Amino acid sequence: MTPLSRLWPLLVLLGACAPREEAPTPAAAAPAWVIAIHGGAGTIARDKLTPEREAEFRAALEGALRTGGEALEAGGQALDVAEAVAKVLEDNALFNAGKGAVFTAEGRNELDASIMDGRTRAAGAVAGLTATRHPISAARKVMEVSGHVMLAGAGADAFAAAQGLEQVGPEWFFTEQRWEALINRLTEDGRPLPARPAWAPALAAPADLPSDEPSRGTIGVVVRDRAGDVAAATSTGGLTGKQWGRIGDAPVIGAGTYAQNGVCAVSATGAGEYFLRLSVARSLCALIELKGLSPQAAADQVIQADLAALGGTGGVIVIGPAGEVVFSFNTSGMYRGAFIAGSEPETAIFAAD
Ligand code: ASP
Repeated sequence: MTPLSRLWPLLVLLGACAPREEAPTPAAAAPAWVIAIHGGAGTIARDKLTPEREAEFRAALEGALRTGGEALEAGGQALDVAEAVAKVLEDNALFNAGKGAVFTAEGRNELDASIMDGRTRAAGAVAGLTATRHPISAARKVMEVSGHVMLAGAGADAFAAAQGLEQVGPEWFFTEQRWEALINRLTEDGRPLPARPAWAPALAAPADLPSDEPSRGTIGVVVRDRAGDVAAATSTGGLTGKQWGRIGDAPVIGAGTYAQNGVCAVSATGAGEYFLRLSVARSLCALIELKGLSPQAAADQVIQADLAALGGTGGVIVIGPAGEVVFSFNTSGMYRGAFIAGSEPETAIFAAD
């Protein structure tokens, strides 16, 4: 591996905010495998993120990257690795996906996820799950077994259960800081507060996260395996205080998630309403496929120009046709990381990291 390619993880994690000159992509140095992840984008204030909390996030990201990297090193297939790593992140209460998801206005957790296989462009998605521990696995089952692309609500949970996926009670998803964030949000908005669920653990001590902790924390995974196959996965609880069955971009193929061999793998995070309107993930891939843009130029076009022009905020993680990992976001931070064959996992949070 060349010295330049060794620096890739670092380079791609740096300064992802402003459109800029691109580093040349050394075609000969396409890595054997690549994985990149995000844990949500948003206003991440340095003074609100304690060193301990930052270390926790970084450790969580690094652990997930290592899980994926080990599987890829051993010859794991991109789709399997994307699902496995997404499950690790869904089980981590730090993130707004699976355990630790944000609450709806009614005090429920409604979970959205999608997954796409770059080999065939098969895709699966679920929206509004309330009982399936790993929404990403439900999305994969939808893709492989249901004959459909997207299932929603009680039917989606019933399908997941029938497929043998683990079902859990609402207490599995509950975290104190997300509950507190809901109460704060609803109070600010002057909306009615739901009663604290009877099954919620007794509040022994105040939540250890700032109570203004926003909705961020959606998770995403993009993978390119040894065969050059790509896959993408995204999972979220959506937005704190969402109501009326609101669904964002995360479970919408082409908005929050896209994967196409030889072109791209993309997972998005941010204000879903904007990502939906711009078909962010597919648009980005189309700029690479049809217009010949580099992955960084395509990502910056969609996030720094198009999304910003509509007033939207958020970011993307992308793997390009030659296994390049790029990030672009227009928020103060995005929890993110990359692990490239032959190097060490790298993680970053703030734009300047
Ligand atoms: N995109 C997600 C949604 O709108 C939220 C996020 O990524 O922060 O549901």
